[in-house]
Amino acid sequence: MKPQSARQQKLACDACHYMEDVDRLHKGLIGKECPDCQSVMLTAEDYRIAKRAMRKLAILAWLSRMIVRMYPAAGVGTMQVQVKDGQMFSEFHKDKHL
Ligand SMILES: [Zn+2]
Repeated sequence: MKPQSARQQKLACDACHYMEDVDRLHKGLIGKECPDCQSVMLTAEDYRIAKRAMRKLAILAWLSRMIVRMYPAAGVGTMQVQVKDGQMFSEFHKDKHL
């Protein structure tokens, strides 16, 4: 699965790259099957790691708002977090047009 930011979350199928928008990650999504290839899109392990990532992201989002307030030139960007096979990857993309 692949949540793109704290606000917009997507559930992605690792097998066929099908993507689905979700309002919010919740336990009910564990074991959900991909409508395309019937693979499990979110495992209990992925869910556990993603929830932990969300808590960290909330702190990071708050920190970045404080930084931008103090140093407006620091700019704004998007934090992208991906959880796959029990591993978490995060990337920060700075918004170019701001
Ligand atoms: Zn699939």
